[in-house]
Amino acid sequence: MPVLTRDDYNRYSRQLLVAEMDEHKQQALRLADAVIVGLGGLGCAVAPYLAGAGVGRLRLIDGDEVELSNLPRQPLYGERDLGEAKARVASLRLRDMNRTLSVQCYATRVVESNAESLLQGASVVLDCTDNMASRQLINRVCYQLGVPLISGAASGMQGQLLMLHPDQTHGCYRCLYAPEQSEPNTCLAQGILGPVVGIVGTAQALQALLFMTSMAPPNWGELRLFDGLSGQWQALKVPSLKGCPVCGERNADYS
Ligand SMILES: [Zn+2]
Repeated sequence: MPVLTRDDYNRYSRQLLVAEMDEHKQQALRLADAVIVGLGGLGCAVAPYLAGAGVGRLRLIDGDEVELSNLPRQPLYGERDLGEAKARVASLRLRDMNRTLSVQCYATRVVESNAESLLQGASVVLDCTDNMASRQLINRVCYQLGVPLISGAASGMQGQLLMLHPDQTHGCYRCLYAPEQSEPNTCLAQGILGPVVGIVGTAQALQALLFMTSMAPPNWGELRLFDGLSGQWQALKVPSLKGCPVCGERNADYS
């Protein structure tokens, strides 16, 4: 029995032509449930590529409203959306792009009290937030829930991509940055050039698609650093911090 409809074959015809893709992988995308936390520059790159590729369930989470200073690097929004909730506007755009999907919008910040319920049951979480407190929380809750996490960040001309799987033995975000450490570079302090954050977001989307289709397992535990001036990427393994309160116990179970 064919798993895809005639419209699916038509809509996804170009990606189905890719040698590594097939209709079963396309169906795997339809059954997947991706959570995108943050719909700024990173989320605006991640979300349309996941929707376009046919990820069946998308949860969009962001508590902010569209501001004029967002427009240069957040192409899901236009001037008519100023003052509107990003999660709501983004969900309308994605539904318009692909009406076969279930797109849920949550116009809220991820905080301690709602994080578990918002992230539970996800195939993968894409952390597209812009501050360290949210990243620490999402990292911790993904480890509690056993959900893979693909985290992005960008400021100035620098970007970073971090791929974490709670079932693998490697360090986590908490191993890289202690919470008491001062905030790493932020867009507000360092500025940002649109394509730099776009490149990191599309890299997150690509890794998520490779993972959800099983085309290629991401290099879990890898931190990739992007330099917008040279266009070069550099890859490092995240070392486990001994006694890390987030991944330490899990890693000890596997050693
Ligand atoms: Zn850790």
